[in-house]
Amino acid sequence: MNMNHHILLIRAGYAQRKKIDHPLHYPPPLALKYAQALLEQSGHFKVRIIDSLVASVPDRSILNIIAQWPAQTVCVEIASPASERGLTLCQNMRERHKGLLIIAVGSDVSERYPFYSAARDVFDVILRGEFELELSRLMIHVHKTGGGNVLPYHDAPAVNKDVCLVSELDKLPFPSWTKEDLRSYPYRYPLRLPKKILPGYISTSRGCRHGCSFCSPSVRKSFGKSLRLRSAGHVVKEIESLQNLGVNIISFEDDDFTGNPEHVRSICAELRKKRLNIHWACHARIDEVTPGLLHDMKQAGCVLILFGVESGAEGIIRLLHKSRHESNWNSQAKETFQNARAEGIATCALFMVGNPQETRADVDESIRLAFQLQPDFIKVHNFTLYPGSQDYQRYSTSLKPSAAPHHYLRPIINVSRLTDQELKIFQKRFYRQFFFRPAFLLAHIKNYSLFYLFNWTWSFKMIMEVLCFLLSKEKHVSSHKERL
Ligand code: SF4
Repeated sequence: MNMNHHILLIRAGYAQRKKIDHPLHYPPPLALKYAQALLEQSGHFKVRIIDSLVASVPDRSILNIIAQWPAQTVCVEIASPASERGLTLCQNMRERHKGLLIIAVGSDVSERYPFYSAARDVFDVILRGEFELELSRLMIHVHKTGGGNVLPYHDAPAVNKDVCLVSELDKLPFPSWTKEDLRSYPYRYPLRLPKKILPGYISTSRGCRHGCSFCSPSVRKSFGKSLRLRSAGHVVKEIESLQNLGVNIISFEDDDFTGNPEHVRSICAELRKKRLNIHWACHARIDEVTPGLLHDMKQAGCVLILFGVESGAEGIIRLLHKSRHESNWNSQAKETFQNARAEGIATCALFMVGNPQETRADVDESIRLAFQLQPDFIKVHNFTLYPGSQDYQRYSTSLKPSAAPHHYLRPIINVSRLTDQELKIFQKRFYRQFFFRPAFLLAHIKNYSLFYLFNWTWSFKMIMEVLCFLLSKEKHVSSHKERL
């Protein structure tokens, strides 16, 4: 079997990573892991992944690896915050390695493909959407045609018109992991578990049927509104294979894990049936979890749920299209957080500041709601106009096409009624008011001390990052970002 074709899969790093002071969590590039598994399964290719985002691999090292390994094909995943870095890397690759087949994938490429297509000499192919199967088909075509007329398309860069979606998720092979791989992706939230953890990352579904106006593939893990599900048996088999590597906590990386309650129940039932004794965390919506579902989740090992609350101001929830019943949003949030607490499941409330038309009073409403919810932690992001979101469309006439990265920690456009300086101050104030309360600190020490002790290397780094961020003075923002 000829395995001479070497394919390098790269997750592009963020150009401004070093300038970002807010602690960050980077889950593994699951789509690249699936692509690797599919390509290897075909038996035709040697595949290697470089996660430049997490490992901060400089471009010159990547260029040397391409020359020395040597790679014949490179597939670069470019998310919105990595647009500058990804484009520059690909331009350098093209300059240095003329015969290289360069394929671009990822959320930013999918949404802003005309911008990337304009770089005609750089990319050979652009694959939009969930690219794993299409990439595998394309590479098998390249393999069969001996690399001659490599593309089944005419113009370069060739772009798939319709965004790819993977419909039968059970047909995707499990990503392959080593313990070292997994250790590169520490889970960034403390857990109420008195043990040393090794996290594993799994997706059980793709798609989200909701229409939050700020949401785009840039902040999601999958594309499209149609919810596609893996079978419980398939999910639990993957969990078992990770357990064999020593994984003892699973992070379900679904956009909306509770999008189909029956799906969640079937996974919980399978986990209980197999007596896997594994703990797990997930993202969920506050309006999708009932007390009964939370009970099932707890019985099956759920220890943490992250809920997108976004704002405590009804007007903002309405503008964000977060819920069709925005007047109930706060009461629903309070009820759900209370129900999770009653089950003994820890919670994280995710908020945003800088929302469209947001005022100081709106931010105060959010802070008030955060106190009332009593989550174990909060996360406060900046509202960001991500390519592919409804809000991006809404404001797009005012946006110039550019490679400037859109990142929730450094949004380049301010659509609120607050100044940039005020936004920075309010974000930090939000955190400080929440975390620096005696009641919070006492409860946190009681619930998490043992976890910190068992995971002290990770904990020390994380606590230092959080403290540095919270205690640092807000730098003066001299000029406004682009304002709309
Ligand atoms: S924010 Fe969450 S619930 Fe809303 S559309 Fe995006 S993935 Fe779905």
